[in-house]
Formats: sequence, C-alpha cells, structure tokens
Amino acid sequence: MTNSITKVLVANRGEIARRIFRTCRDLGIETVAVFSDADAEMPFVREADQAVHIGPAPSAESYLKTEAILAAAQRTGADAIHPGYGFLSENAGFARAVAEAGLVFIGPSPEAIEAMGSKKEAKARVGGAGVPVVPGYDGADQDPKVLAQKALEVGFPVLLKASAGGGGKGMKRVDQESELADAIESARREGENAFGDGTLLVEKYVERPRHVEVQILGDTHGEVIHLFERECSIQRRHQKVLEEAPSPALDDALRAKMGAAAIAAAKSIGYHNAGTVEFILAPSGEFYFLEVNTRLQVEHPVTEMITGLDLVALQIRVAEGRPLGIAQDALRIDGAAIEARVYAEDPAGGFLPQSGPVLDWHLPAMEGVRSDSGVETGAEVGIHYDPMMAKIIAHGPDRRTAIRRLRRALRQLSVQGLTTNRAFLVQVLEHPAFLAGELHTHFIDEHLAESLATTVDPETLRRALIAVALDDHERRRASSPLPSIPSGFRNNAHTPQRLRLALGETEHEVAYRHHARERGRFTFTVGDTSVAARVLGRGERTLRFEVDGLRQTARIVDAGERVFVQLDGQAFALRRVPRFPDHTAEVPAGACVAPMPGKVIEVRVAEGDAVEAGQVLLVMEAMKMEHKVTAPEAGTVESLHAAVGDQVEADAVLAVVG
Ligand code: ADP
Ligand code: ADP
Ligand code: MG
Repeated sequence: MTNSITKVLVANRGEIARRIFRTCRDLGIETVAVFSDADAEMPFVREADQAVHIGPAPSAESYLKTEAILAAAQRTGADAIHPGYGFLSENAGFARAVAEAGLVFIGPSPEAIEAMGSKKEAKARVGGAGVPVVPGYDGADQDPKVLAQKALEVGFPVLLKASAGGGGKGMKRVDQESELADAIESARREGENAFGDGTLLVEKYVERPRHVEVQILGDTHGEVIHLFERECSIQRRHQKVLEEAPSPALDDALRAKMGAAAIAAAKSIGYHNAGTVEFILAPSGEFYFLEVNTRLQVEHPVTEMITGLDLVALQIRVAEGRPLGIAQDALRIDGAAIEARVYAEDPAGGFLPQSGPVLDWHLPAMEGVRSDSGVETGAEVGIHYDPMMAKIIAHGPDRRTAIRRLRRALRQLSVQGLTTNRAFLVQVLEHPAFLAGELHTHFIDEHLAESLATTVDPETLRRALIAVALDDHERRRASSPLPSIPSGFRNNAHTPQRLRLALGETEHEVAYRHHARERGRFTFTVGDTSVAARVLGRGERTLRFEVDGLRQTARIVDAGERVFVQLDGQAFALRRVPRFPDHTAEVPAGACVAPMPGKVIEVRVAEGDAVEAGQVLLVMEAMKMEHKVTAPEAGTVESLHAAVGDQVEADAVLAVVG
C-alpha cells in the first residue's frame, strides 16, 4: 500500500522543525508548524506554509498535547505528522493516535517504539537476537536487595539505569558496596519523577568507552540497511556535544560487524523508518548494545554528509509505503563529517542552561559547512525547552579537513547576547587528543575540566577595544546632528577622547586622537603603548579596520550599555562604563554635555530661550535611567545640538548657554 504525502505537520520546534520543512519544500510537500506562546516569533513558525497556535509555553500544555496537535492537523488538512526528536517522537501512544486519526506517522510502528522504549525490554529482545549487550541484570524482580545482589555479581563499577530513561537522565555510577543502597533508592526516585517509572537496570560500567551508534533505515517491505556509524563520545552529563562520522576507532571489519549487529537488532523488532542503534565500544574492541532510538537523531546530518542521502526524504518515502530502493553494498563513505551542538549554556558554570535574547546570529557561508539553526538575530532562547540553538556541521575529504572547517566556522560564528558553548567547542576541536581521535565519554572531564573558563587573549582584546572606539567615532560622525560641531568636539583639541569598557569585572580604557587632516586615521593609547589605527570601512554590524598595520574585520553589536565584539575567533561581551568627569576644563563655558552615552528623549527648550540656572534643558535616557541635562547658569540658549531621538556619546555638547 502506498499513499502520497502532500502536507506534513511537524510536531516539534526550533532547528529540527526548520530542517524537516526544508526537505518538504524540496519535495513539493506543504508544511504546517505548531507553536506555543513562547515560540510565536520563532523562525520555524514563519517558514511553514501555515502555523497553528497550540497552547502556552510549558511543553505539557503544547508540544506534548496530542489532541491539540491532531486538531491542528485536521484543521489544516495535513496528511502526515513528523515528530522530530524529543517531545512525542518516542511516544507509542502518540504514534497510535496519529494513525487512528487517519494520518501517516513519519516514523516506526507504535509496536517498535513500545518495544524499544523500555531499555529493559529492548535489551532482552535484542540480546535474544544474538546482539551483544552490556553484562548486567535486566530482570523483573525490582526488590532493592535483589538489585544490590546483582550489582555485587556484576562487579564494580556498575551503572544503575532507569529503564524508561533518556536524554542522559536517570543514570547513576556506583563504585563500592557502601554506596549501593542509597544509589538504588535515588535512581529509582529519579526514574519515577522524570519518566513515571522507577524500574532499574544494573549494568557493568564500561570504563573509558566510546559511544558509537549505527544509523539504520528500514522500509515496510522488510528491507533494512545501515548508513554506517557515528561516534558521539564527546559528552557532558551523558549528553552529546560533538558527533562525527565515520568513527576514527572503526576499521572496515569492525564496521561490518557493528553494522550487521544493528541490522539484526532492527530486524528482531520488525523495524521500519529511520532509527539508531546505540552501542558502547570498550577499549578492548568489544562492543555492547545500549538502546535503539526510534526516531531521527539530533546528529543525523553527519550521516547525510558522508552518504549524500537526505534522511528526512527517505523517512517520508518509507512512510508512504514505498520501498527504499537502496542496496547496502551500493553505499560508500565519502570523506568525514563532524557536528557541533551550539548550546545556550555556560561551560564554566557546570554547563548550566542560559536564556535570553539572541542579539546577533551570523555565520558566513563556507565551503563544506552546513548550519541547522533554530534561531536568528532577534530570537529568544527561553527557559521552557532544550537550550540547543543550532548545529554546525562540516564535511571534508578527510577528518582533519572536516575538523578544520568546523573550527573555522565556530570561530567565525557570531552569537551574541547570551552565554554559549561556542568557545568551548573550539577548545575541544583544538585539543591534541581530539585531533588524534583518542576519544572516550569522559574526554571533557579528563582533558578540559580545568580550562573551562574562557581565556582572553590580551592582544585581541586590545584590538577589540580599539574597534569599538573606532566604530563609536564613525557612528557619531554619520549621525552628527550638526555638521558644524565636529564629532567628539572638544574645546581643547589636544585632550584625547577616552572610552572605558568593562569585560567582566575588569575595566579597560582606551584614549585616542583623531588626526584632523587625515580622516579615519587615529592614534590610540592603551596602557602605556601607542598605536596607529585606521577605519577602512563600515557595514551593518561590521567594521573593517587596521591597527599597527594589521587589517581585520570585527563584528560589532552595539546594544546601548552593552557592546559585543566578535574578532579573530573570540567574542567579547563588553559593558560601557559611564564616566562622570569634571568637564569644566574641556568644554566651552556654558556648554551642557551628555553625562554618558544615551538617547535624547526630550528637548524642553529652543535656541534663543531665556533659561535659569539649573533649569532642565534636555532629558536623556541611558543605562535604563533618565538623566536631566540642566543649564549651568542663567542666560540664553545660544545653540542646541541635539534633537529628540538622537543617540549621543558621553561628553557630546548638547547645548550652549551664554
Ligand atoms: P540524540 O540521541 O538524538 O543525539 P540526545 O542523546 O542528546 O539526543 O538526547 C536524547 C533525547 O532526549 C532526545 O530525544 C532529546 O530531544 C531529548 N533531550 C535532550 N535533552 C533533553 C532535556 N534536557 N530534557 C529532556 N529531554 C531531552
Ligand atoms: P540515554 O537513553 O539517556 O541516551 P543510554 O543508555 O543511551 O541512555 O546512555 C547514554 C550514555 O551513557 C552513553 O552514551 C554512555 O556515555 C553512557 N553509558 C551508558 N551505559 C553505559 C555503561 N554501561 N558503561 C559506561 N557508560 C555508559
Ligand atoms: Mg542514548
């Protein structure tokens, strides 16, 4: 039986929704998004042909609400639903409800999802088909005494695992008998709280393992093929951060063995559509089955890049009931691919998720680099969902090139406004052990735990500060309210202009002079050194400049009191330090200056008005506060240099009272 899919609803959000829409568009299939209150302005909502609001921000009231999703499908006339990953993707009840509503579920059968949803049952089924499983206990008797006894038999260290677990949750390593009773109790509680099921497995804890998984693809005619492996050993909190294909640990013989095991596992449950069979690979070369993820995987793009296949297109093909039509031995690995997950999280602060507005998202197009992003400039990373913002994937003829391309892409990626793992990802990619392919699941703890705080290169920082000063100067010039008042007007032309910026707790100051006769040329003093600097060009959010003969382009995002600079692979989140200097020596008598950079929001006088000492002339807004600019003495407003809406710099002369 085949049916043609013409309109797909994606029951998901963010990057994966956009990813699926892209293939649908290619295939001429119409698209429907569903969205919660929190996502109304997200790119995936705009990109769909139609979008239906399904509820408030919490997933339980939106992305996990089967009825709301089915109603959206009915209303828009969608004939198929793609669940993406996470949310309802591995929920057999949802898959069944979709079918019962007369729609096509783009994924495996509810029975397969059910069978693999429990790690316990999965191990039993797959182990029964001759696939090696991690030694341990997966029995029905859940008496804590029995579990403890089994753990002793398995031998320490052991891993207690919630049978219903996922996403790296519900796992506890136990190293000695004295910790066992507490660990069993707490793992059970975690399983109950997170997954509503406290059933535990006891597994031998494999030391320094690699995580290697095999992509499988089956059709409804009984054909199952594998699309090679992905290695996902770089993990934090048992969750993947970098994934690559092929695995540097596999040779052709091991690849064939693991591929065959994955196909056997899939066939043991009559699997169709895309799925992933996860294994851990011990240093001895032995591998053990972990679980089957019955959905499209976050890291599927690396497989697409080395095989040239579109997995979403193949999922749709299979869901239509058509045969795969791809022979196993026709598949070849083309080069190498590697993916980095860009998370809004703080590596130096225990990888804690971060939220906030994305003030800049920019990645230049590059050869061999693919970006699957859920965000763009102006989007908001909220607290309700997974903090993954995007995946950057690089492909090359070999692993070294793929890594180098990914490193360059991540260094050029400008993601500003919130803390991300961007710099951390670059650190991993530069690590000698990573480059040598010596990976294991504790790689981050072992190699990088001590160096998680972002280090600042003082030379780059210095150039970033200069770039901000140059950019400020250019902007001021471009928007100078009165051409006769030169930018950064000073009574005494020999007094340098100063800019103070803080990076974290540390304040930095640059002083500079503009060469009156050579526009765009400056002399900067930072600390006790002086350098020549030039503006070469300015675009939207970019400044091309030269410092001491070195030419570069900085990306600069000016957000009022905060300024973000991306330069030479480093990101600087700077804060403008307001100055309250004594201006009397620097400005003409009677001049009224802006106390800090900000916006003029009110002008209360006109030129020629008589004013009293202390009378409010203008009102500015800066640092989210209002500041009144007053007349220093009684007199007449001789000149006025600002209008409502003007953005002015600190010390700019706003009016002169004489
Ligand atoms: P994958 O196996 O596809 O690479 P992960 O291993 O990172 O993905 O996560 C496994 C599953 O758990 C995915 O379906 C993912 O969406 C989901 N997941 C990831 N992070 C979280 C989280 N913080 N909370 C709940 N589920 C999550
Ligand atoms: P999840 O459903 O959360 O993805 P998995 O069983 O797939 O759970 O395991 C997730 C990760 O935990 C693996 O990638 C691996 O790093 C680690 N892990 C799982 N089982 C073992 C084990 N027996 N020994 C050592 N590490 C393990
Ligand atoms: Mg897993």
